[in-house]
Amino acid sequence: MKIAILKERRDGETRVAATPDTVKKLVAAGHKVAIEKGAGDTASIPDKAFGDAGATLGTLAATLKGADALFAVRAPDEATLAKLPKGILLVGQLEPHGNKAQAKAFATAGIDALAMEFTPRITRAQSMDALSSQSNLAGYRAVIEASALYGRAFPMMMTAAGTIAPAKAFVMGAGVAGLQAIATARRLGAMVSATDVRPAAKEQVGSLGAKFIAVEDEEFKAAETAGGYAKEMSKDYQAKQAELIAAHIAKQDIVVTTALIPGRPAPKLITKKMVAAMKPGSVIIDLAAAMGGNCELTKANEIVEEGGVKIAGYANLPGRLAADSSALYAKNLLNLLPLLVTEDSSKSPHWDDEIITAMALTRDGKVIHDTLK
Ligand code: NAD
Repeated sequence: MKIAILKERRDGETRVAATPDTVKKLVAAGHKVAIEKGAGDTASIPDKAFGDAGATLGTLAATLKGADALFAVRAPDEATLAKLPKGILLVGQLEPHGNKAQAKAFATAGIDALAMEFTPRITRAQSMDALSSQSNLAGYRAVIEASALYGRAFPMMMTAAGTIAPAKAFVMGAGVAGLQAIATARRLGAMVSATDVRPAAKEQVGSLGAKFIAVEDEEFKAAETAGGYAKEMSKDYQAKQAELIAAHIAKQDIVVTTALIPGRPAPKLITKKMVAAMKPGSVIIDLAAAMGGNCELTKANEIVEEGGVKIAGYANLPGRLAADSSALYAKNLLNLLPLLVTEDSSKSPHWDDEIITAMALTRDGKVIHDTLK
């Protein structure tokens, strides 16, 4: 099939949905790859590298002409959507949760859309799981950003001029991003603690050498869904959690928050009052900024300063290491490919495969995802 890759048009989006490595593999598998000129610029991939790998470079119109599939990082904007050929298979991080209007627009335009966010969390789909590949890098980058904003060092240093105390880092939400944040902060020499509402997180946090802090009541024991995600916690649990966190957070230098509940606003875990109790110079990196933030003071894509505490709300941390995040994302798409084609490489999504069933939003002009009808 002909696979199109466009330059991403969302503000601040630096990633691209292919790399020279994946292009080579797609071409070797018998596909044609068309890439819009400049698509890789912000991910440090020049057009020539794509061309050398076997892709055709061209304008947006030429790239889309006769394309069977569009591999994208984000959903196309309105203007691009209007230019997509009818019947094209769109695969991307489409922010599908509850987005019925978007699903309807795809159906009306005759686009068969697969959302990477709905990749089921089963072993067979792990290599296609973009939420994991991108969250892992976001967790790493969050700590690097924190270290840049923090006016002190992370590790303990004993020097002739005196001793520097190690930074205390606290990670809230120990999923994929949180566990990588813990590992990174530990590598930099911080003293690390972490919290989560899922009991499974306790052992994982401990195995990374961090201290686990949580309200471990009956509700905690049942907080993990069959899909591995957290449930939204009760008001009563939230109050107990807030009390525990308030005392702990006042002693921290770095806080990285990653708590998310799929399709819901991010839980508010850090209040203004808690920020006021933190030491000047402390840093909060809020990975949930795009979903409203885990801290009451977070503003998406801004660094807010309150009483000397910096609160950074980077809404696209994977985009701050675009070369690596593009490479892993492009690989996720490549791993999904066998479920989109026949053995002779023509387009034929395996609609009955549980992975495609879970990801499919629209098909043949209809919205087919149960949550979006
Ligand atoms: P996520 O991004 O949805 O949420 C991040 C973390 O925030 C989660 O650990 C969640 O429990 C936590 N959280 C939610 N509400 C909270 C609250 N009020 N207070 C504190 N923490 C809160 O989660 P994720 O990173 O996508 O991972 C979810 C789970 O899925 C993890 O156990 C992960 O290991 C698992 N997973 C499994 C696979 C697989 O293929 N089997 C792949 C990826 C992830």
